[in-house]
Amino acid sequence: MAKKYVYSWGDGKAEGSGKLKDLLGGKGANLAEMSRLGVPVPPGFTITTEMCRFYWENGQKLPEILKEEAGIALKNLEKLSGKKFGDANNPLLVSVRSGAAISMPGMMDTILNLGLNDEVADGLAKLTNNPRFAWDSYRRFMQMLGDVALGIEHEKFEEKLNEIKAKKGVKNDLDLDADDLHEVVKLYKEVYRSEGKEFPQEPVEQLWVAVEAVFASWNNKRAIKYREINGMDKMGLLGTAVNVQMMAFGNMGESSGTGVAFTRNPNTGEDKTYGEFLLNAQGEDVVAGIRTPQPLDQLKEINPEVHKELIDTMNRLETVFKDMQDIEFTIENGKLYFLQTRNGKRTAAAAVKIAVDMVNEGLITKGTAITRVKPADIEKLLHPTFDIEELNKAEYFGKGLPASPGAATGMAVFNADDAEAKAKEGLPVILIRPETSPEDIGGMDAAEAILTSTGGMTSHAAVVARGMGKTAVVGAENIVINDKAKTAISNGITIKEGDWLSIEGTEGKVFAGKIKTIKPTGLEGDIKTLLDFADEVSDLGVRANADIPRDAKIAREFGARGIGLCRTEHMFFEGDRIKKMRRMIVSKTKEQREAALAELLPVQKEDFKGLFESMEGYAVTIRLLDPPLHEFVPHEDAAIKDVAESVGITEEELRKVIDDLEEFNPMMGHRGVRLAVTYPEIAEMQIKAIMLAAIEMVKEGKKVKPEIMIPLVGNVKEFTLLRNSAEEIIKNLLKEHQVDVEYKIGTMIEVPRATVTADQIGENADFFSFGTNDLTQLSLGFSRDDYGKYIGDYLEKGIYDSDPFQHIDRNGVGRLIKTAVDLGRGANPHIKLGVCGEHGGDPESVEFCHLVGLDYVSCSPYRVPVARLAAAQAAVEFRRGKKVNY
Ligand code: PEP
Ligand code: MG
Repeated sequence: MAKKYVYSWGDGKAEGSGKLKDLLGGKGANLAEMSRLGVPVPPGFTITTEMCRFYWENGQKLPEILKEEAGIALKNLEKLSGKKFGDANNPLLVSVRSGAAISMPGMMDTILNLGLNDEVADGLAKLTNNPRFAWDSYRRFMQMLGDVALGIEHEKFEEKLNEIKAKKGVKNDLDLDADDLHEVVKLYKEVYRSEGKEFPQEPVEQLWVAVEAVFASWNNKRAIKYREINGMDKMGLLGTAVNVQMMAFGNMGESSGTGVAFTRNPNTGEDKTYGEFLLNAQGEDVVAGIRTPQPLDQLKEINPEVHKELIDTMNRLETVFKDMQDIEFTIENGKLYFLQTRNGKRTAAAAVKIAVDMVNEGLITKGTAITRVKPADIEKLLHPTFDIEELNKAEYFGKGLPASPGAATGMAVFNADDAEAKAKEGLPVILIRPETSPEDIGGMDAAEAILTSTGGMTSHAAVVARGMGKTAVVGAENIVINDKAKTAISNGITIKEGDWLSIEGTEGKVFAGKIKTIKPTGLEGDIKTLLDFADEVSDLGVRANADIPRDAKIAREFGARGIGLCRTEHMFFEGDRIKKMRRMIVSKTKEQREAALAELLPVQKEDFKGLFESMEGYAVTIRLLDPPLHEFVPHEDAAIKDVAESVGITEEELRKVIDDLEEFNPMMGHRGVRLAVTYPEIAEMQIKAIMLAAIEMVKEGKKVKPEIMIPLVGNVKEFTLLRNSAEEIIKNLLKEHQVDVEYKIGTMIEVPRATVTADQIGENADFFSFGTNDLTQLSLGFSRDDYGKYIGDYLEKGIYDSDPFQHIDRNGVGRLIKTAVDLGRGANPHIKLGVCGEHGGDPESVEFCHLVGLDYVSCSPYRVPVARLAAAQAAVEFRRGKKVNY
């Protein structure tokens, strides 16, 4: 059978059903489907996407076969509409619109009111009894066709329009009357002539010019850019369809009108039709906001039959398309037409409510409900947002990396002590630092939000802020922060101490001044239900990165099933523990160090008990000390003096210790398992504290699953050295206390060497937890604290598609992980595999974790709900045939 390029609809038996979306485009397929369902749509026809491809592949010419097919469709359209193309007494006017298979809103061209010429405009003026409308439509059409299809600059038409306005002494187009617009039409014809063209008076000729223009617009600049941004550029030449549809007029008097409606409330999700309409108006009048539309309910009083038909049909459309519909309708002399239906855009809260309600109504499955809500929507609902009106008026200050979501307003402070002091006075503060260090923890806790000018998505500020659920923007390189002078300068604005500042962490934006915040919904009601659906289908477990019981409790409430990473170093900064830690560091002998550690042991044990308690029997992975020791010693003169006094050594002695700890490259320095190799007693103390905490819990009749994790292992011998000594300690403790504890000993995989020797390590380890922060840093050789300086150039030049510390670099780091998974499981089929780097809370990276078959992801408590949804979406989408992409 010969190929078919034109599909007609509008007579209740459309040939192309809604399933032909690739061929007819989204709009065309939906119009055909509505027509097939008997929904009154203005009749029309669709020229397929295939013709668009033909057009581009064959010298940008429309073939004769198309003109023949479309000619037949046009005759049919005249029959169905009862109107005639070019007939001044009964004119058929059409819209010519683009419509690709994947929606590209506003990117391609549209031409309205096609079919108008001198005679038809006259006829339309009489028919509508509205000459102003007729001439205005005509001059707009001339302008649109000239600009879109014939390459005549828009400005040339605007100049003429302005001439008439000036002559008339008015500023606004609306103040021009029918005669003025008639005059404009004459001038527009001159514009055409001055460009060596003649405005085509013949409607069929207009149609071909318009169809060609829509096909051509597939490759206009903005459409190309849009496809690039949305990853559609790699999908080959998809092309757009062209929809030619009878214009229906809502401005033919008081029995006509036009409106927009949703089958449910798009703001709240409430199951009640929502919309507005205007009598005697065209679609653009609703959009332009010149007249105030009436709520849909009022149509019931004006025209109950049309209202009933509208509501009944909308309900039907929702049942057929199984999603909330956004429709456009026009009433022409009492006859209702549906111009379009599509899945409606909605707020985050509405998305969740509609998804859950539709499951309860039996309209969709739980799996579908899960895919209807974006992980970012969940994030929005769990964090404060800015009042949109105030935000729109806010003064932009600068931008950085979106390190931790939410919105916060407060007064600027430039160091952690000031933050704590001001917060104690009850003032909301924003902590602004060039970068943060572990010593700033108190100030970070006291602040409403954190802003830094250096550091990336896995820098200290980002990791800690996310853990606390606190808004943060980091690496705002263009904001000049001077913590000595206490100023931040950007965009011509200077923020001084005490000035108000507002931080938006979801997009990474900073504003000068105060902006009202809106409280989040919290994890209850429909969100909770949706996440319960998610857990039912997920293949990945979700744990939390939490260091203290408070965070662990929040994580449990957010649905974490276990702790995947407790960074024990964070515990050492609280209260007077830092003093004990420093005494341990300045110890000159092993004995002195052991004495200091003996003081830390009971404190650590209590910490661990707290974590076990809040995790209610789920596994808790505790990592042995990781950072280099220099992070625990003071660096400012006054603090050095204080600390020397409190640990009982001279300032000089302390300075010597500090100098000795200094490293050229601390990130690759004396840290992780290397500390345990040099100072086994530190690891021994922590292992004892973990096991004693577990033993006490067991004695209290509680369930515990401790997991001891060794950081930064690159060589199996590092691991076995630690494992052997741990086993010895544990054996003795269990014997001494006569209890049994189920425990595991595993390692982080964050050094590239560990990934390629994962068989050797896996044979000896109970679990691997991928530390993707360090693994990214060490694989790419990008410092996680400094890469902000150049990542922008890398993204701009397309070297990486996205920030590799935010979304896992599937091509490089991802391959190392896959290698480690295969080698590890090959050597030890029972090995548990997870991720605890920041990628564990990033939906795109969670998808990757699902693909490589990890057992769990672990992320900061506030990202747990996001990870739960992302994990479920990956499971559902791949089960439904989404293609593997890594
Ligand atoms: C990692 O490197 O991914 C990790 C979780 O450890 P940290 O961020 O503490 O270095
Ligand atoms: Mg690490």
